[in-house]
Amino acid sequence: MDNAGQLIVSRLEAVRAGIVRAARDVGRDPADITLVAVTKTFDRDAIARAIAAGQRVFGENRVQEAKAKWPGLRATHPDRALELHLIGPLQSNKVLDAIDLFDVIETIDRPKIAAAVAGAILKTGRRPRLYVQVNTGAEPQKAGVLPEAADDFLVACRGTHGLAISGLMCIPPADQQMSPHFALLAKIAARHGLGELSMGMSADYELAIQLGATHVRIGSAIFGARP
Ligand SMILES: *Cc1c(COP(=O)(O)O)cnc(C)c1O
Repeated sequence: MDNAGQLIVSRLEAVRAGIVRAARDVGRDPADITLVAVTKTFDRDAIARAIAAGQRVFGENRVQEAKAKWPGLRATHPDRALELHLIGPLQSNKVLDAIDLFDVIETIDRPKIAAAVAGAILKTGRRPRLYVQVNTGAEPQKAGVLPEAADDFLVACRGTHGLAISGLMCIPPADQQMSPHFALLAKIAARHGLGELSMGMSADYELAIQLGATHVRIGSAIFGARP
C-alpha cells in the first residue's frame, strides 16, 4: 500500500476508535453508530483507498460532483455494498439524478423538494432512505426546515407527500456550542419516532454520539484538509 493509502487507513482507525470510545462512555453499542466518510472535493483515488480500508458508507454534498465520481467507483467495486448519502442541499431540477445516485438523501427540507422526491420515487421505483434536515440554528444562509416548522413539515412529508422519513440531520452553527443543537435534533426525532440521527462532524462527533447520533459525517479527520 502507498503512503497516501496508509495515512487513510490510520486516520480511519483513529476515527473508528473515537466512535467506539464515545459510544462506550455513554453505554451505547458502537455498532449502532455508522461512520459516513465525507468525500466532497476528494478524488476517486482517495475514495478507493478508503474502500480498500474497509469503509463502505460515504457522503457527498453536491449531486453533480457525486455523478462524476460514484458511478465509476461503484463499477470498479461491484462486490462491495457501498452506501452513498447526499448531505448537501437538493434543488428540484437535480432530484431525479439524486434518486438515481444516492441510497440516503439527508436533506429533505421543504415542500417543493418533498413533492419532487415523491414524484421521482414513483417514476423510478427507487426508494432511498430519507432524512429531514433541520436548521437548528435558524441560520439564513443554511438549508433545513426551521425548528418551529419541523413538526408540521414531518407530518406533511408522511401525510401529503407519502414519504417514509427515517431520520433527521443537522449542521449546527460553527461558532456556537453544539450540544443544544444536537439535543434539539434528538428531541424532535423522538417526538416523531424517528430512529436515525445524522449529526456530528470531525470536530464534534464524540459529543454528537453522546447526545444520540446514529450517523456521524466525517471528512477532514479521514481525508485531511480540503483544498
Ligand atoms: C463537509 C461536510 C461534513 C464533513 O466535515 P468535516 O469537518 O470535514 O468532518 C459533514 N457534513 C456536511 C453536511 C458537510 O458538508
